[in-house]
Amino acid sequence: MAKPIGNITVVGGGTSGWLAASYLARLFEQRVKTGDLSITLIESPDVGIIGVGESTARPMGDLLRLIGINESEFIKRCNATFKLSGWFANWDIDEAGKPVSWVNPFFSQSDIHGLNPASLFASYGMHRGGGPTDEGFTEAMSVCPDIIRAHKGPRLLGGEDYKSEIPYSYHMDAIELAKMLMERGKELGVKQIIDHVNEVHLDDRGFVSELILRKNGAHPIEFVIDATGFASIIIGKTLKEPFEPYDKYLLNDRAAVAQIPYEDPTRIEPTSRATGMNAGWAFRVPLFNRVGSGYIYSSKFISDDEAIAEFKAHIGDGGREVEPRVIRMRIGKVRRAWVKNCLALGLSSGFVEPLEATAIYSVQVQLQWLFGYFPNSDFNPAVIKRYNQLINGFYDEIVDFIALLFCISNREDTPYWRAVRHDMEIPPRLAENLELWRANMPGDLDLRSMTFFSPSSYRSALMGKQFYKGREYAAASLFSEANWRQYLNMRRQKTKDLMAKLPDHYTLLRRIRGEDTSPSASVTPIYINS
Ligand SMILES: Cc1cc2nc3c(=O)[nH]c(=O)nc-3n(C[C@H](O)[C@H](O)[C@H](O)COP(=O)(O)OP(=O)(O)OC[C@H]3O[C@@H](n4cnc5c(N)ncnc54)[C@H](O)[C@@H]3O)c2cc1C
Repeated sequence: MAKPIGNITVVGGGTSGWLAASYLARLFEQRVKTGDLSITLIESPDVGIIGVGESTARPMGDLLRLIGINESEFIKRCNATFKLSGWFANWDIDEAGKPVSWVNPFFSQSDIHGLNPASLFASYGMHRGGGPTDEGFTEAMSVCPDIIRAHKGPRLLGGEDYKSEIPYSYHMDAIELAKMLMERGKELGVKQIIDHVNEVHLDDRGFVSELILRKNGAHPIEFVIDATGFASIIIGKTLKEPFEPYDKYLLNDRAAVAQIPYEDPTRIEPTSRATGMNAGWAFRVPLFNRVGSGYIYSSKFISDDEAIAEFKAHIGDGGREVEPRVIRMRIGKVRRAWVKNCLALGLSSGFVEPLEATAIYSVQVQLQWLFGYFPNSDFNPAVIKRYNQLINGFYDEIVDFIALLFCISNREDTPYWRAVRHDMEIPPRLAENLELWRANMPGDLDLRSMTFFSPSSYRSALMGKQFYKGREYAAASLFSEANWRQYLNMRRQKTKDLMAKLPDHYTLLRRIRGEDTSPSASVTPIYINS
């Protein structure tokens, strides 16, 4: 019988590398403690981490908790804030040519008698002026937009770590997170080597046999995790696993990023924002002490200098002093993330787009699946094959949703947006689904796996982007307008209750950080919903 793996080497000390090392050390804690399993992380003193990636997906808290991170300490050290949604603006226009905005919240729309009310919205809610609501789709369906506009936090003052009234994730400082994960990893027994990998050697089976480190010389390999970012030094440069770009579906390949000071540090929005620009989109990720921002654009449609000028104008006064850093993004993925005894993780394995914060969550999923399919020293090809199938399906799922956000946009005002709308290919499964969704709302059975984007997210996106304007659905006839009014009233009552209960976001963060212990901090304004 094949022996269990006794040595894991992680190369790369960014978010991916330290997440991998600390996650595996936590799950194999007993084996690491007894010396039966050794986990080593090697990171270069010369190559910095990418230092972006500050908006996260909803399951991030589960991962931090599993690794054993104290949430309050994380919030304080990483200047973290709560995130309740992604907020899109200026990707589409309405009939009057005005920019449309919409929200993708971390809440599913609740069902009425087992049926999703989105089709009711299409019948009774969407035709503004004619129906019982003037609200947009997410406003009608979810408590989220009102809570975000009021800058509320998701947890009561004095509430427990990792508990909340409504689902959330975080915005956090990427560099501080990597440091915190490093400390936790070392506590769990991970050995750190700060050295540059100069060479990667293969044996006669094509397995990675050793790394040659600049100072420390040869480092033998049993199982190696390549978390070397876009450099991809093992899976890409050494094993030469083919890279499959997504450029036929997605145009953006550059980012200009900057950190911006707050105008009013007490007004912290609990949402990430994605705003359409001339040749891409800009993100706004509010941390406790600053805002992370960036312009994600296509170098085919705008030069770096033009993008920086447009980005600075977009930031306004707060951006006058900043000098954005340009990052070249490698958009696509390696054909197989796991080859022989090397598993690629994070940016070295692939990257779709910063949109919707899928990258760190991908690392989380990759780690969960690695644990589920953890190899023995024989590296059984069936195990590796299944893992790669799952990862490829997962990437396809992400690409479908991200491509959807672009391909059905109706902006025509710049060459970029015309190309997005008319010239880009649509991933085959998405194209098929869009045909289906012209006749029906997205449902559970339409999606591959719902590992990331649920039918609820698809409905929010399609409604937000006005895909359903003017359409009627058979399912809607199962209900009357009275059902719809009843649903709306329930949702409005829920919003009112939450608005009365939840504290101001800034106040909540200060309380968690131990900076505000006054009793007045618990007073929350009562919201009156008209
Ligand atoms: C503009 C932009 C915005 C983004 N926004 C988000 C977001 O909001 N949410 C999200 O989830 N993700 C986002 N991402 C992705 C996110 O930044 C990454 O997934 C995350 O930071 C993990 O990066 P990494 O650890 O894989 O690589 P890196 O941070 O690049 O780390 C690479 C590591 O490899 C080491 N290394 C490289 N070469 C060698 C060598 N020869 N020897 C030894 N060590 C070596 C380096 O020292 C470094 O430690 C964004 C990406 C970009 C480009």
